[in-house]
Formats: sequence, structure tokens, C-alpha cells
Amino acid sequence: VTERTSAADCIFCKIVNGELGTAFVAESEHAVAFRDLNPQAPTHVLVVPRRHIPALRAVSPKDASIVVNLLALTTEVARREGLLDGGGYRVITNDGAAAGQTVFHLHFHVLGGRSLAAMG
Ligand code: 5GP
Ligand code: ZN
Repeated sequence: VTERTSAADCIFCKIVNGELGTAFVAESEHAVAFRDLNPQAPTHVLVVPRRHIPALRAVSPKDASIVVNLLALTTEVARREGLLDGGGYRVITNDGAAAGQTVFHLHFHVLGGRSLAAMG
């Protein structure tokens, strides 16, 4: 996978389009949420825009409605996972390979379900 991944061969575009049969935890007009293949916490859900946006750095003001809708879906995921009351949760995006980005389709990790104080 390179930072030049296009929508045509993007694994998350395939998931968004239902090509891999991935179950959605939640979905909205501009975003879908599904469980991470390799969870790092009891709740580990990825929230991704339906449109292929490579990373956070590629977001521009014209994407405002998509990004707000995407962030609202992270909150909906947290609500459904029981994280809003008491538990707390973390929303993370990695931008660039040096930061650990391995899939070059924008995604926010929603992590929760245990104490996050010690999580890297
Ligand atoms: P990144 O490292 O780019 O921030 O996060 C990519 C995440 O996508 C990783 O946590 C990885 O486990 C997850 N992932 C990669 N391929 C798939 C897949 O085909 N299905 C699902 N559900 N998660 C995936
Ligand atoms: Zn994509």
C-alpha cells in the first residue's frame, strides 16, 4: 500500500461499497463505521467517509459537510457502544506512513471499553 492508493484499489472503498461483505456498526449520509480487523481495545471501530479522501491533510473547506457528518458518526458509534456515560473513549487518525497510517483512505479510530490512560 502506498500513499498514492487510488479509489479503484482502496480496501476501504471496497468496504464502503459492500464488496467485502463487512458489517457496518452504524452509517450515515457521508460515512460508515465498521469494526477494526485487528482490535486494539474492547471497542475498536473505524469511521470512514464514503468518498475516497486519502488522509486528514487532504480535507478542504469544500468537504465541511462530509467531515461534520463523519465526526457525528464517531459520537453515534460511542453512544451505541455504551461509551458516552462514564467510560470515555478516544478518537484518533494517523496521517502519513511515519505516523502509522497503513490505509490511505481517511478514517478515525474510535477506541474505548477500558482505561485508556496507558494506551499508546
Ligand atoms: P491505520 O494504521 O491506517 O491508522 O489504520 C488502519 C486500520 O485498518 C488498522 O487498524 C487495521 O487493523 C484496519 N484494517 C486494515 N484492513 C482492514 C480490513 O480489510 N477490514 C477491517 N475491518 N479493518 C482493516
Ligand atoms: Zn478509498
